[in-house]
Amino acid sequence: MDKIEHIGIAVKDLTVSIPIYEKLLNTSCYKMEEVSSEMVKTAFFKTGDNKIELLEATAPESPIAKFIEKKGEGIHHIAFAVEDILQEMERLTQDGFRLLNTQPKKGADNKMVCFVHPKEAHGVLIELCQEIKWV
Ligand code: ZN
Repeated sequence: MDKIEHIGIAVKDLTVSIPIYEKLLNTSCYKMEEVSSEMVKTAFFKTGDNKIELLEATAPESPIAKFIEKKGEGIHHIAFAVEDILQEMERLTQDGFRLLNTQPKKGADNKMVCFVHPKEAHGVLIELCQEIKWV
């Protein structure tokens, strides 16, 4: 895997959290995007080479709503950039990691994504993401 692509933070209300993170990071939110398949609204911030993704649930059955119900707001996942998501998925499966999706899914911010079950990563939800390149 390559660098940490972003850190995902679960929040209850983006309209509250965005101004706070803008103040905290001293930078403006550069992108908001809804991912309907995941039932989330996302907001992205850049700090140097790093990105922060805030996630708000758009439905009670959203994974983000369930996460907040159980654990409260806070760090939800760490995303790593990968060159070839299918190859990484294959490698992880062979090494005994459980993936939450068997095919890469379209994620936010122009990425194909796949999640690794937090159980095998000691409680941390890991996201693989590969930039979608338009040719
Ligand atoms: Zn993410």
